[in-house]
Amino acid sequence: MSQAAVQGTLFVISAPSGAGKTSLVAEMLRSDETLGVSVSHTTRPMREGEQNGVNYHFVSRDEFEVMIGRGDFLEHADVFGNYYGTSHVWVRETLATGRDVILEIDWQGAEQVRRLMPECVSIFIVPPSASILRERLTGRGTDAPEVVERRLAEAAEECRHAGEFDYLVVNDQFEVALADLLAITRTQRLRMQVQQARHSAVLAGLSNQG
Ligand code: 5GP
Repeated sequence: MSQAAVQGTLFVISAPSGAGKTSLVAEMLRSDETLGVSVSHTTRPMREGEQNGVNYHFVSRDEFEVMIGRGDFLEHADVFGNYYGTSHVWVRETLATGRDVILEIDWQGAEQVRRLMPECVSIFIVPPSASILRERLTGRGTDAPEVVERRLAEAAEECRHAGEFDYLVVNDQFEVALADLLAITRTQRLRMQVQQARHSAVLAGLSNQG
C-alpha cells in the first residue's frame, strides 16, 4: 500500500498563556520533521519579532469576516477580542499525504475540531502550579497590574477546559514535557489501524508463510 493512502493524525494542542506551548511546539517540529504545524489567521496586531505568514497570517477584521463567509475555516474563535482561525485547505491536504499536523489553538477551536474530526488527538499543556503561572505571566515586571490580572483570568478560563482533552502534559521541566509530547505523537503512529495501513504488505507477507 502506498504511503499516501494513510491519513495523518491531527494533534490539537491548547494551553493557557505562560505554559510554554509555543516553545514546546517549536521544539517538537525541530525534533520530528515529519510533523507539520498549521499557520493560523488572526486579526490581532503583529508583535515584535513576528513575521506575517510564519507566526500567523495577519489580516483585518473585514478580511477575516469574508473568509468566515466563504467557509474557509476549519474552526475559528474570538479569543479575548481578536479573531483566530485555522484555514481547512492546508490541514486537509497535508493530512491526506499521510503527514501529521499540529493545531495550536484555544479551547473553543479545540471543541469545534473535536466535533468535526473526532479522530483528532487533543493535548492540554499546563504549567506546574498557579504560583509558577503567576510568576511567568508577571515575570517581565513591565506590564500594568490590570494587564497581568487580565492575563491570569484568561489563563484560568482556558484551564477550566483541560478535562475536555485526551492528554495532559505538565511543563515543569521543558525536556520532560517535550519528551511527553513526542511520546504522544509517536504512540499515535504505532496504533494498529495506522500501522496496518502503513505495513499491509509486510503483514500480508508474514501471514502467508508456511
Ligand atoms: P496569541 O495571540 O498569544 O498568539 O494567541 C492567543 C490564543 O489564541 C492562544 O490560546 C492560541 O492558542 C490561540 N490561537 C492561535 N491560533 C488560533 C486558531 O487558529 N484558532 C483558535 N481557536 N485559537 C487560536
